[in-house]
Amino acid sequence: MHPLGLYISVPFCRSKCTYCNFASGVFPATYMERYVHRLTEDLEAARAFTSAKILDSIYLGGGTPSLLPPHLFRKLFIAIRQCFEISPGAEITMECAPGQLADDALEAMVECGANRISFGVQSFIDQEARATGRLHTRAIALHDIDRVRQAGIAAINVDLIAGLPHQTEASWRESLDVLTETGVNHASVYLLEVDGDSRLGKEVLNGGARYFASAIPSDDLMADMYLMAVERLAASGLRQYEISNFARAGAESAHNQKYWLRRPYLGLGVDAHSMLRAADGTAIRFATTDNLEDYLQSPGWDDRHALSRQEELEEAWFLGLRLNAGVSLKVLEAEFGAEAIAGFRPTLNVLAEEGFVQQSGETIQLTPQGRLLSNNVFERFLLPAAAA
Ligand code: SF4
Repeated sequence: MHPLGLYISVPFCRSKCTYCNFASGVFPATYMERYVHRLTEDLEAARAFTSAKILDSIYLGGGTPSLLPPHLFRKLFIAIRQCFEISPGAEITMECAPGQLADDALEAMVECGANRISFGVQSFIDQEARATGRLHTRAIALHDIDRVRQAGIAAINVDLIAGLPHQTEASWRESLDVLTETGVNHASVYLLEVDGDSRLGKEVLNGGARYFASAIPSDDLMADMYLMAVERLAASGLRQYEISNFARAGAESAHNQKYWLRRPYLGLGVDAHSMLRAADGTAIRFATTDNLEDYLQSPGWDDRHALSRQEELEEAWFLGLRLNAGVSLKVLEAEFGAEAIAGFRPTLNVLAEEGFVQQSGETIQLTPQGRLLSNNVFERFLLPAAAA
């Protein structure tokens, strides 16, 4: 039985970034106390229905977990340790917004066992960060990276977004260069998502000038920025191991790899997703509401459903292909049977002809072009019987 990963969402932010489509927001500070109390109740409840009792990764995401007051970090980790055993080498990550990590919060994180910090920097260019509502400057972000190191945490991730308003090829190169000069051992690079769930996305779709939608780089430039990131980060030792993730050897995120390798994880808090394995190995997925008020009053998880074999196989393809290591046909055949895998051969052949996947030996991988258009590629795995 695999140990469990634990994800805890902390949906509190000091201000709402214009591009953000997460279930996070600015709420009264009094909600934090109620929220952490609610999390401790869910931990108790989860202990009853999870067979795995050992955690080998914990990830506090958000939102902005670094805004939690120190006593709430301690309360949360006391509850985690009462309900689960944390394995000695467990990876414990906390997401932080630069400029929003008080000394006492950092101290509490270290005391609770945090050994990895993820900074939502998004851009090291002050004008770009300011235009999206971020509250930090480059100097603040660099200072916070130093403070975390001085506190004894060496594993640090920096998030960047390609496609922010005002970004140019030159400014993107500068952000990448500043990132690599910090010497952090992990980077995540995302392409700006345009959808109606963020203020910037709405402005792109419906027009307006408040959030600088007209200053968003073109799709072609965004694609070039992504490819530039892959190249420049690799040149500095941060090799791509997943569509959006780059690491020095051995510094890959243990927690996030569980999602792509379909290992069990439990999600607590607002808009948290879980995947556990039943005694017979069947994947059970469930989630929580994305509304904070509802979460504070609801009895916990809903939408619990067991995946069919077909759904599991589709997931094995599109989650596994996210990893640069790709998907092993032998491993898939051992899990799902040779006939089921053969059903995808026409899809794979067409995708290979189009230049989106490649096969070497028994391994199927996305090509760089496939990574760039990965969502279009993954859709093709949902209908294996149809022509791709
Ligand atoms: S991007 Fe992060 S910090 Fe900004 S509003 Fe969203 S969750 Fe909060």
